[in-house]
This record gives sequence, structure tokens and C-alpha cells, in this order.
Amino acid sequence: MVFTGDGKGKTTAAMGSALRAIGHGMKVLMIQFIKGTWHYGELDAARMLGGALEIRPMGRGFLKPDAEQPDPKHLEAARQAWQAARAAIESGAYDMVILDEINNAVDYGLLQIEEVLEGLRRRPPQVHVICTGRNAHPRLIEEADLVSEVRAIKHPFDKGIRAQRGIEY
Ligand code: ATP
Ligand code: MG
Repeated sequence: MVFTGDGKGKTTAAMGSALRAIGHGMKVLMIQFIKGTWHYGELDAARMLGGALEIRPMGRGFLKPDAEQPDPKHLEAARQAWQAARAAIESGAYDMVILDEINNAVDYGLLQIEEVLEGLRRRPPQVHVICTGRNAHPRLIEEADLVSEVRAIKHPFDKGIRAQRGIEY
């Protein structure tokens, strides 16, 4: 599954899917490819769910997109996040694996689309994988079973309203 587009709601749609799956006794892992520094409410919510949802922030936070010359520290973080994602998907320990903002990581040149597709093709058939983030690669869109695009119509940021607790983080 792929949630992409320039509007707000991609990561939260993935978390809604996680909540639904957890209700059926499924185990969910979310690996965050870009996030890593802010404290998001979902990190504490995951703890409240008692182990059914695991969230691993593995990014290095905000980065200046430069696909030509990506920052080595972000490259290394993305590489490690992808290794962890592959291992988790193949392990059979999770019914759903969310690769949060992996689309941005590919878009910024931190990961190669071919290696991502190759890993996703090898997943055990019962494992649901959700890829979120803007600018989903056309090859990923082509191979995915489900693709939804969130389109921005308005956002409070346009009125100068900064990130709100419980809404953005
Ligand atoms: P959310 O985590 O709230 O579901 P998202 O995953 O769709 O958002 P991202 O592209 O990951 O959005 O962006 C992260 C943050 O940027 C979000 O907190 C969101 O509120 C903000 N954001 C998303 N779209 C816009 C927009 N069109 N204008 C301004 N800010 C935005
Ligand atoms: Mg997001």
C-alpha cells in the first residue's frame, strides 16, 4: 500500500490502518525513515497499546533535499532503516510493517528504488507493507496493490499556524 501526495494525512492514515490491524490481534511495526528528533504523540500511544505497535524512529530529522549529493549522515541512517525494514518484513514477527516517509528517502536519493522494490517483492505474502511519503516513485506506484494520494486543499500552516500538539506531533 502506498500513501502519497502533498496533503496532510499520509502518516496518520498508516497509523489508522495500524490501529485497525491491532484490533484483530496483529502485530505492527512502523519504521520512520526521516523522523528521529521530535517527540511524537504516537510514540507514547504505542507504549499504551502494550507492544502491539512498535515504532522505531531511525531518521536524522529534517534534511535539505539534494538528490545529487545526499548528506552522508542521512544516507547512513536511511541505509540502516532499510536494513531493519527488510529484516522485519522477512522475520515473520510482524503482520504489518509501515515504512514511514520511505518515499521521501527515495526521492532525496538516500535509497535506490530498485533495492526497495526488490525487498518488497520478497516479502512473505501475508505481510502488509505500507509506504508513506510525498513523491512516491512511479515504479513503486506501478507495482503496489493500493495507492492513495492525499491532495492538499488547505492547511493551517498557510495562515501562519505552526505545528499543533496532537495534530502534527
Ligand atoms: P500526518 O503525519 O499529519 O499524517 P503527512 O504524513 O501526510 O502528515 P508529511 O508530508 O509527512 O505529512 O509532513 C509532515 C508534517 O507537515 C505534518 O505534520 C503536516 O501537518 C505538515 N504538512 C503536510 N502537508 C502540508 C501542507 N500542504 N502544508 C503545510 N504543512 C503540511
Ligand atoms: Mg508523514
